[in-house]
Amino acid sequence: MRIQVSQISEKDGLRRDYRFPEGKPDLVDPDCSVAGESSLGLFAERSGSEVKLSGTLHAKIQFNCDRCLESVVRAVDEEFDLFYIPSFQKGGLNDEAELTEEDLTVSFYEDDSINVGDIMREQIELVLPMSKVCDDDCRGLCSECGVNLNKIQCSCRTAAVDPRLAALRDLGLRDDPR
Ligand SMILES: [Zn+2]
Ligand SMILES: [Zn+2]
Repeated sequence: MRIQVSQISEKDGLRRDYRFPEGKPDLVDPDCSVAGESSLGLFAERSGSEVKLSGTLHAKIQFNCDRCLESVVRAVDEEFDLFYIPSFQKGGLNDEAELTEEDLTVSFYEDDSINVGDIMREQIELVLPMSKVCDDDCRGLCSECGVNLNKIQCSCRTAAVDPRLAALRDLGLRDDPR
């Protein structure tokens, strides 16, 4: 999946819509995957060798909660703008004042083409949550019996609450003549 830069009309731009099958694109984080089909719409505009892409992506990301291990699916619906120049212009970037203002990040393309799969993967990874939890208030698994504390309130919790009590209990066991 590539956009040929020379095929982008300087007058009308170029409109492209892409569909990705279940599980695509592969993500760098092995604990996350794309669930179901995802889609990416791109509108490309070109001025000489400079390209602006306006994109809209829709995807669902699956991961397991770090605390309770339940499977979580999050919808990702993002709009973004990307700016590209040919990689041979990399060295002269400081002269490209109009590209570096407004906190714009500039990417580079090679051989007249821009890889659409890379765009999809990068945009999804930008919005992946730093902490993978089903909910900020997820109570996780009981360290004693392993039940999901979001669903069941077990009775082990209170026993382990006060470390001083636990220490006393350990002493008592050690003094036990048996
Ligand atoms: Zn959870
Ligand atoms: Zn428990």
